Amino acid sequence: MKTPQELINKALEAREFAYAPYSGFLVGAALEGKSGQVYTGANVENASYGLTVCAERIAVFKAVSSGEKEFSQIAIAGSGEGPTYPCGACLQVLAEFAPGLTIYTGSDPGQYQVFNLSEMLPQAFSLNTRR
Ligand SMILES: [Zn+2]
Repeated sequence: MKTPQELINKALEAREFAYAPYSGFLVGAALEGKSGQVYTGANVENASYGLTVCAERIAVFKAVSSGEKEFSQIAIAGSGEGPTYPCGACLQVLAEFAPGLTIYTGSDPGQYQVFNLSEMLPQAFSLNTRR
């Protein structure tokens, strides 16, 4: 398993590929599968703003469409001051596959925060109504 620093560095590398001409806010994500493979993502904006997709979801979709559906941890590195937290939509998508996911936020490998997905999204939507 990657160290938090390794995963944050991969998120920073991925951030270089962000396409954010409208907001100027660059985000990179690095998601580690149970296999040890790391899937990266960067935010991709669109002139039709609502079509923009976050870095985290791009990483998840890359992984799942490559055959990996179990994940251990994700690092998220934004370009703003301070940590960049995942949005609600991304938390819901991550919860589909890894409700106990470890989440690192921070764009400095020496300074980051650690969360569990279940604390950021304690009541994720589920079709199972008998939780
Ligand atoms: Zn998001």
